[in-house]
Amino acid sequence: MAVLPILRWPDSRLTTVCAEISTDVSGLAADMLETMYAAPGRGLAAPQIGVLQRIFVMDCTWKEGNFAPRVLINPELLWRSAETATGPEGCLSLPGITSQVSRATSIRMRWTDLNGAICEETFTGFAAICAQHEFDHLNGILTLDHLDPAARALAESAMI
Ligand code: ZN
Repeated sequence: MAVLPILRWPDSRLTTVCAEISTDVSGLAADMLETMYAAPGRGLAAPQIGVLQRIFVMDCTWKEGNFAPRVLINPELLWRSAETATGPEGCLSLPGITSQVSRATSIRMRWTDLNGAICEETFTGFAAICAQHEFDHLNGILTLDHLDPAARALAESAMI
């Protein structure tokens, strides 16, 4: 396992649509989890370490002492609630920037796990926000892309 450097915006790899995965990515997933915990963060998508493949990791509760690592390969967004909420989001690729992003409060996602099993789950609360944020990364979308031009310009000027 290795802690890998995290790319920062405006690296063009962060705005690229990632490719479906058809190979074993257990080594990549282990590196991504280690990199996420070291950052420290609660989610990390492969393009953030320069790997343009559809995989992200998240652990929404480890900072509260409850380690629950998840690896989502080829995730699909099956459903999102009509109800949305706007809240502050940071991103490891946008150090110093917190953006107010509107997200569905509940989503349903399907993905493949490291054993090749198809998983499906409804995420709510912080997990729903985190999963949507990381899923966006796989499509080359950053929190900045959710902002109107004035808010985006302000956010970009706050980049460390
Ligand atoms: Zn991010």
